[in-house]
Amino acid sequence: MTCPQCNQRIPAKALWTPAGLSGVVCTNCNAALCPKPISAILVFTVSFGLGDLALMLLRHKGAEFWLACLGFFVVFAAVFALAAPVFLRMRLKDHGDPHLSGHRA
Ligand SMILES: [Zn+2]
Repeated sequence: MTCPQCNQRIPAKALWTPAGLSGVVCTNCNAALCPKPISAILVFTVSFGLGDLALMLLRHKGAEFWLACLGFFVVFAAVFALAAPVFLRMRLKDHGDPHLSGHRA
């Protein structure tokens, strides 16, 4: 996952903002970023799918429902944390102030 403006790597922890994925800011150039919808959907689908798989497996093994749900959330969070930096593609938020866009003659 790299910044479209400065092409520097964005650390995974930059994704964990109070505003979620819509509030990501590049740690190098402070550009406001948001994930491309397709890549965000992909990451969510993969995380959700594997979390759901964990839930079904736990239920199949006779785990309590709350434990299966806990398994779902743990797997979901773990997969999301691993997959997001790999699969997410960021783009600049382009409805901002033109003075902040970084275009210089
Ligand atoms: Zn940047």
